[in-house]
Amino acid sequence: MNKLEHLALAGVRGLTSYQAGKPAEELERELGLSEIIKLASNENPLGAGKLARIVLRKGCNELSRYPDGSGYDLKNKLASRLNVEADQIVLGNGSNELLELVARVFVSAENEVIFSEHSFAVYSLVTQAIGAKAVVVPASDWGNDLSAMLTAITDATRLIFIANPNNPTGTWIAGDELEAFVRQVPDHVIVVIDEAYFEYVQEPDYPNAVNWLPSCPNLLVTRTFSKIHGLAALRLGYGIASSDMSELLNRVRQPFNVNTLASVAGLAAIDDHEHIQNSIKTNHQGLRQIEQACNSLGLAYIPSVGNFLCIDFSKPAMPIYDALLREGVIVRPVANDKMPDFLRVTVGTCTENARFIDALCKVLA
Ligand SMILES: *Cc1c(COP(=O)(O)O)cnc(C)c1O
Repeated sequence: MNKLEHLALAGVRGLTSYQAGKPAEELERELGLSEIIKLASNENPLGAGKLARIVLRKGCNELSRYPDGSGYDLKNKLASRLNVEADQIVLGNGSNELLELVARVFVSAENEVIFSEHSFAVYSLVTQAIGAKAVVVPASDWGNDLSAMLTAITDATRLIFIANPNNPTGTWIAGDELEAFVRQVPDHVIVVIDEAYFEYVQEPDYPNAVNWLPSCPNLLVTRTFSKIHGLAALRLGYGIASSDMSELLNRVRQPFNVNTLASVAGLAAIDDHEHIQNSIKTNHQGLRQIEQACNSLGLAYIPSVGNFLCIDFSKPAMPIYDALLREGVIVRPVANDKMPDFLRVTVGTCTENARFIDALCKVLA
């Protein structure tokens, strides 16, 4: 029992800490297995690109100085890529930090925060930590039900989180539909569109929410270097918003929230077009590989445009997760997302996917 819990804020008392994907080292220690593959946290199986690795080696000579707290170079580079002003960008220690900053700025314990069932766990975490009311809207076809979300708005609503594509389900929202939604949200509500998997999506109707910023001062779009750029370990993400919103977020941000190595690597990664293209291609082929295996095993799955796939076992999936662990394959249970019959598998390299598929066949036999 935690003896200090009665002193903690009410919201914190009800929280359980975020359950990350199991680290490969932990499984190694527990089961004495080697050659473990981890397909549990939607990381890039190709790792960081060559350009980022080169500057990281050089960056090791500059560790005694504090980082540039204004993030001048990276913000300017991102701004020119995204066709926005540098003062519209806020850098974060992972895009997760942006999710927390926006809640800190706009939400109090008296407010409500809307997000979908089966959505990213961090939305409920930041909401509960503040002690605000989480309004969890039932999903429609495993994705965000935008009209139900509009209906859920009250005078107390301050924030709506939408991931496009959604994690863990991999569903996505077309531009017309999402833009109409954003424009209908009343002025007292902030909308966050979390585009962590933006670069992976190939569908022609998939929107770039940054284009709506000039006429949507209440919109925050978040992106990350953790997925397509393969830099999850460095913790680097960013938000794009109106300059008024960015200025508010910067007020509560820690002065040196983004470290020097992360910013130099991010700067290099933006220009590593070869690595980005390889990552997209590897993901696309890998998704097809895993989908085909599911089809031949008679397993249903939720069609995904991300770098992961939720597989439906039509029965509690935890025993399958455990059996896969014993085969040295780590995937992600999503029972906490109210999907007890599913496992989420991150798309790996062709070899990793094949190992996962072999293990799955063995486990299901
Ligand atoms: C992975 C992911 C993120 C990225 O988090 P970082 O803090 O940038 O590593 C954000 N949102 C969603 C929905 C994700 O799946």
